[in-house]
Amino acid sequence: MYDIIIVGGGPAGLTAGLYAGRSKLKTLIIEKSLAGGQVSGTAFVENYPGSIEDASGMGLSNRMLEQSKEFAEIKYEDVVEVSLKGDVKKVKTDKAEYEAKVVIISSGASHRKLEIPGEEEFSSKGVSFCATCDGPFFTGLDIYVVGGGDSALEEASYLSRFAKSVTIIHRREEFRASAVVVDKVKNDPKIKFELNAIVKEIKGDKEAKSLLVENTKTREIKELKSKDGSPIGVFIFIGYIPQTDLFEGQVELKHGYIVTDEDMKTNLEGVFAVGDVRDKKVRQIVTAASDGAIAAVLANRYLEGLAW
Ligand code: NAP
Repeated sequence: MYDIIIVGGGPAGLTAGLYAGRSKLKTLIIEKSLAGGQVSGTAFVENYPGSIEDASGMGLSNRMLEQSKEFAEIKYEDVVEVSLKGDVKKVKTDKAEYEAKVVIISSGASHRKLEIPGEEEFSSKGVSFCATCDGPFFTGLDIYVVGGGDSALEEASYLSRFAKSVTIIHRREEFRASAVVVDKVKNDPKIKFELNAIVKEIKGDKEAKSLLVENTKTREIKELKSKDGSPIGVFIFIGYIPQTDLFEGQVELKHGYIVTDEDMKTNLEGVFAVGDVRDKKVRQIVTAASDGAIAAVLANRYLEGLAW
């Protein structure tokens, strides 16, 4: 029996683990793939306090993981079922079943897809959701980045070091990204823009070679491709979908996100939710970490017998 099981090892879950473990609570973090969550696939993190010398997302993830591992146990398993009602919570993975008095859900969010022809077919053959992982494969080639938020513009800026050119394709004229990032891409001579445009199809042979885009105002469709017929990179950053399938019917959801109060408490006693999976306005690494700390401190109080 664990005191706390944390489902998901991104910044929110790792911070919860760090705080819970330092309170001498028997803590298990379960992560299905790579600890660090979305941060691991982020090129540079310039807005997490202290992340200066090695500002790479992977570096920050590794440091968070190493620190949490000092205090909490981590298992790399896939959670397949949870039972969250009652005093004993059960978490079943592909390998075993665990029990805990408290569960902290930090399952995060996964990449939203365009759901267009060619996206699946050319996945890993030109289509990517991770600039840090795949950027170097497109050295000297034309890259297209889809999206107008912080992720799209920051990753476009990172990709411009490898690419012959980067074209940002966005469905509107205004960007959702913060002003400082918009300025950065606008001042990058390698970055071009295809605005009021939506991607209809990704085409190619063995690799992605072109994109069909439709202008939302004129409805004109054009094909974007390299002048010399070379393969292209298509990086898609159009937001995220909360990972809440496992918890549906148990914790309260709003638009797919888990509803909590400001103490990270869900509608179920002994169950907290933190990070991007939670219904909230600001999704940043620093707010994810903050959520994790709050949940762990209040879980400790709950386990000490103080009221929920
Ligand atoms: P986001 O802010 O939700 O932006 C998604 C972008 O994709 C928007 O520009 C949206 O267009 C576009 N989009 C959505 N669905 C689309 C579709 N089907 N087809 C074409 N375009 C589509 O997502 P994000 O950029 O991944 O950021 C997620 C959160 O993380 C945000 O809170 C962001 O601030 C934060 N973040 C912060 C940093 C940082 O501070 N350094 C870095 C990365 C992310 P519309 O604008 O027209 O809706």
